[in-house]
Amino acid sequence: MENPPNESESTFREGELVSVLTTAPLDGCLDYRAPSGEIELGQFVEVPLGPRKVKGVVWGVGEGTIDSKKLKSVAGKLDIPPMRREMREFLERASAYTVTPLPAMLRLATRVSDLGSPQSTVIAYKLDGLPPARMTPARIRVIDTLRKNKDKKFSIGELAKRAGVSASVIKALQQAGTLRRIETPRETDFPELAPDFQRIELNEAQAAAAAALRAGVGAGRFSATLLKGVTGSGKTEVYLEAVAEAIRRGRQSLVLLPEIALTSEFLKRVAAKFGALPGEWHSQVTQAERRRVWRKAAEGSVQLVVGARSALYLPFRDLGLIVIDEEHDISYKQDDGILYNARDMAVLRASIAGAKIVLASATPSLETWANAGSGKYRRLDLPARFRGAALPEMNAVDMRQENLESGRWISGPLAIEMRSRLAIGEQSLLFLNRRGYAPVTVCRACGHQIGCKNCDARMVEHRFRNQLMCHQCGASTSIPSKCPSCEREGKLTPVGPGVERLTEEVKHLFPEARIAELSSDSASSALAFRELLDSISAGEADIVIGTQMAAKGHNFPMLTLVGVIDADLGLNGSDLRAAERTFQLMHQVAGRAGRTGLRGLALLQTWQPDHPVMQAILSGDDEGFWRVEAAEREVAGVPPFGRFAGIVVSGTNEARVRELARDLVGNSQILSRIGAEVYGPAPAPIARIRGRVRFRILVKAAKTAPLQAALVRWQCQFKIPSGIRMSIDIDPFRFY
Ligand code: ADP
Ligand code: ZN
Repeated sequence: MENPPNESESTFREGELVSVLTTAPLDGCLDYRAPSGEIELGQFVEVPLGPRKVKGVVWGVGEGTIDSKKLKSVAGKLDIPPMRREMREFLERASAYTVTPLPAMLRLATRVSDLGSPQSTVIAYKLDGLPPARMTPARIRVIDTLRKNKDKKFSIGELAKRAGVSASVIKALQQAGTLRRIETPRETDFPELAPDFQRIELNEAQAAAAAALRAGVGAGRFSATLLKGVTGSGKTEVYLEAVAEAIRRGRQSLVLLPEIALTSEFLKRVAAKFGALPGEWHSQVTQAERRRVWRKAAEGSVQLVVGARSALYLPFRDLGLIVIDEEHDISYKQDDGILYNARDMAVLRASIAGAKIVLASATPSLETWANAGSGKYRRLDLPARFRGAALPEMNAVDMRQENLESGRWISGPLAIEMRSRLAIGEQSLLFLNRRGYAPVTVCRACGHQIGCKNCDARMVEHRFRNQLMCHQCGASTSIPSKCPSCEREGKLTPVGPGVERLTEEVKHLFPEARIAELSSDSASSALAFRELLDSISAGEADIVIGTQMAAKGHNFPMLTLVGVIDADLGLNGSDLRAAERTFQLMHQVAGRAGRTGLRGLALLQTWQPDHPVMQAILSGDDEGFWRVEAAEREVAGVPPFGRFAGIVVSGTNEARVRELARDLVGNSQILSRIGAEVYGPAPAPIARIRGRVRFRILVKAAKTAPLQAALVRWQCQFKIPSGIRMSIDIDPFRFY
């Protein structure tokens, strides 16, 4: 692998003052004396902090703010490559952009256990001898888990968790000689990826797009490209060509996917194309594997990492390409803890690393669409589905004409289409973005609606689990038999549909059909979810009923009908992105139909067939939709043409929360001075979550205004009482 351009970094000699950024929750860096021997800028170290030792990075020359008598020395160096200047710059700029303390950014960038402890071995369990004489379901699960993950190293705890068994089952299998306990090196090298392993013939549009991306990678400097094409148009094939080019040039690539459940399918595809598996990084990857990927990224020896948004903070030695697949997906926006949008941070990282970034989508975010329109990004279009597979036909079902009896959600036209699919062995998908059985439980006697006791939210019935659940805080109770308000028996009634209730209706209408439910409640783990997806792909279900978990890039070859139960859901929110999101979701869901040659049909049940968003979806005039949406936002000066910051002040004491929120708004001259407008405070639309009262303030500024710096100075003017939290969300996606 070629060396990246030399960084002429400074080094410090023993006793010199260095400033160290630690992972401790402080505001900034601390001064220490350099230890014996030389120490480099970016070196990972351990430093004493009070009675403890904490990890940190040498960030610069010490500032001399600590009394020299109290000054301590760096305790030791960690055996990992120093953090490169480029990474340090990335963390600093990401911290400034998101108004997040730098130590919190460092924690994001070092999320591995025993970082820097010497290379060692791990104990793993492998299949060895024959199956045991006595088989139990638990034993079968253990053996299956190992069979399916031949190249993984599971500790006993991880294996037990994956297989859903207790550790004693594994020990017994070891004693029976079925499993072997082995010691293996912790971090083996990744196998080489061969860029020309599989040669496929690209169609004309693909070839042109691939050539443009290859040239971009070859240029060796930052550029951004929107790769737009409907689902199935062959975008993945095209951006994998860019990955191949980066491999040829000895630079590393990162592909971000919006959904962990999509990774295993994607990894198979990479293995088919490059002859070996890349690095994998997300929350379900084992600790040992995370450590390996982190280290190999830093050493420059993993050529490709496929992962979730946090993979963006891996210490790549020479990052040449980032791909954001389904770049519009809202899961790229992390909205608890550190609030950041991985898509935007990826653009920042690419610009600092001198890398190419590819944003792939059928329905780009308005931000990206506008950037491509203004020439800031390049734009490449893949016009048709690969091999000319037709896009699904989209029709509205006007629910005003349907007169469905109460408790029924499937319209006549949709039921007819489902029946005909069932007759010829094709699959149907019913889409409803609501988990559980019913969103509301009402008392027919007094009208009381059952709410969560911690949150300003209604409890959602989950009949399958026989519980009421709060989707805000996760609280659950059993379903009461009498109304908590008027105490009358047997009067509580579910109102409105959730996927579980829809399943009930489908069973009633099509008793002979095989039904699969796809929601975040229908599988206990990512692996179980994957298996469910595979069984649907293999044709083991006739009718799939799903929430947005069903909308993402899964490939169901036999699916030719999509019915959207409530296409208006989400259309009427006050949310800035309501129209955009409905548009994207409908597109995406409809794109599930007819991916392989069979002609697909999407039926959108709507009460507002004349709504402009519905019209744009039905007519297929994508560009028209974006133009109208962009024009409206430009006039209003809202994102992407202006900038928002969402501020939430929360705490258990309502009076004090309100007081601070008022104080913040009342003393916001620093913000007015940069031309920002401040709205609020208002009780948040969900005014209470987990027992904490919430007030919202919205700050709107021009794109060019120095918003973040002003926010920091504004925030510093106030003393935030203990027990009260203030969070600042730059470019918020949530407005509740
Ligand atoms: P997208 O990423 O736009 O959804 P994909 O790249 O996944 O599209 O392509 C859709 C399907 O068509 C996949 O099964 C893929 O393997 C296949 N495909 C795409 N391009 C080609 C090609 N040039 N030759 C053969 N198969 C292709
Ligand atoms: Zn709650």
